[in-house]
Amino acid sequence: GAPDPAEGERVFAEDRAHLFHSWAAQGAVNPVPVAGAAGRHFWDYSGKRYLDFSSQFINLNIGHAHPKVIAAIKEQADRICMIASTFANDKRGEAARLIAELAPGDLDHVFFTNGGADANEHAVRMARMHTGRPKVLSAYRSYHGGTSTAISLTGDPRRWANENSGSASGNVAHFFGPYLYRSHFHATTEAEESARALAHLEQVIAFEGPSTIAAILLEPVVGTAGILVPPAGYLAGVRELCDRYGIVFIADEVMSGFGRTGEWFAIDRWGVTPDLITFAKGVNSGYVPLGGVIVSNAIHETFREVPYPGGLTYSGHPLACAAAVATITAMKEEGIVENAARIGEDVLGPGLREIAERHPSVGEVRGLGVFWAVELVRDRETREMLVPYAATGAQSRPVDEVVAACKERGMWPVYNYNRIHMVPPCTITDAEAREGLEILDAALDAADRHVA
Ligand code: PLP
Repeated sequence: GAPDPAEGERVFAEDRAHLFHSWAAQGAVNPVPVAGAAGRHFWDYSGKRYLDFSSQFINLNIGHAHPKVIAAIKEQADRICMIASTFANDKRGEAARLIAELAPGDLDHVFFTNGGADANEHAVRMARMHTGRPKVLSAYRSYHGGTSTAISLTGDPRRWANENSGSASGNVAHFFGPYLYRSHFHATTEAEESARALAHLEQVIAFEGPSTIAAILLEPVVGTAGILVPPAGYLAGVRELCDRYGIVFIADEVMSGFGRTGEWFAIDRWGVTPDLITFAKGVNSGYVPLGGVIVSNAIHETFREVPYPGGLTYSGHPLACAAAVATITAMKEEGIVENAARIGEDVLGPGLREIAERHPSVGEVRGLGVFWAVELVRDRETREMLVPYAATGAQSRPVDEVVAACKERGMWPVYNYNRIHMVPPCTITDAEAREGLEILDAALDAADRHVA
């Protein structure tokens, strides 16, 4: 429709009167009222358009308003909107089959949840029952979701507030994963970083007690906490440690799965098979909420006679599953995962490396597919972060300025502390990717002004 600023004001006012927002001081939220969206764009009521380099919550892998997914939801709504998970349903079964076919190894069964956090809750519950052990190891620099177990597994400052309020569930210990640019292990090569990160993980296992550890949960490519691509050999090494100590390997593919890295699952790139994969987001691009756990045959066997003590009213919701079937089918038909891989190799990777050369505030660019981080520093030599870890308020200003400059020019990125994340839909075209890079290039002048 035509721009309607007055309607935009009404939408904004109603939000501010009644919406309680996520992760925010309620007095500080200032949401853009969105009037519509299509492909890689959304727009407000004044008609201002944004190129979506956020994929919303890094979940809209297929882009906005994909006609095949919309049609599938409408068709399903006409047939059956809700049937409990105690019944068999065609779209639920088909979605589970398509997901199991994409998953590596013998991960042949799918337990559906409403999103990523509850997928991790259930994966951990399965691992604890399967092993009879209580503890779970997860990485500092990670995000696993906002519910009680998932947030205590999370290695970012959002965990602290939840611990302070006393709601954290225990039996979690954290380790450092590989991160060569800021190596915790004084490594200077990827091979050293991988070997030392694995030695460190084995030490954590030894100190926590191997017989107490049910699972190691990690993101194969760490998302929110930095888009950290593991060095060759690391994930295979984690698999070996899990095998040696009888620990369940849970790969959290909530953000990295369904095309984001240019593979169906990020872990495919390293040819490693975990015992459980958790997914959400890209499985149906969030057109209807859906997540789940893909379960190996050995863990499935544990629950052949013993009932699984868990479930959800909306497990395998027909509208969500119909959207997943249509999304996965369209992604195959249209080569969308291949497009993500190619855009990363041909456009985003080379373009971001050029930008890094031009801007003294860029310490490192890294990523793959449509999953890229630009790490901003005050000083390239010392690698001092442009804004400190866990920055709040005024400390964040230098990055806030870059983000504001991007939005001003019509590109909507993601940011986290000293990083800008460039994470567009997998369907992005070469021209759109170049446009996003040009806008970032111009916006980074704001960061360069803060360089020491
Ligand atoms: N795991 C990872 C890796 C994520 O990135 C997220 C969300 O950003 C979650 C879990 C939580 O998913 P949800 O917000 O659907 O609960």
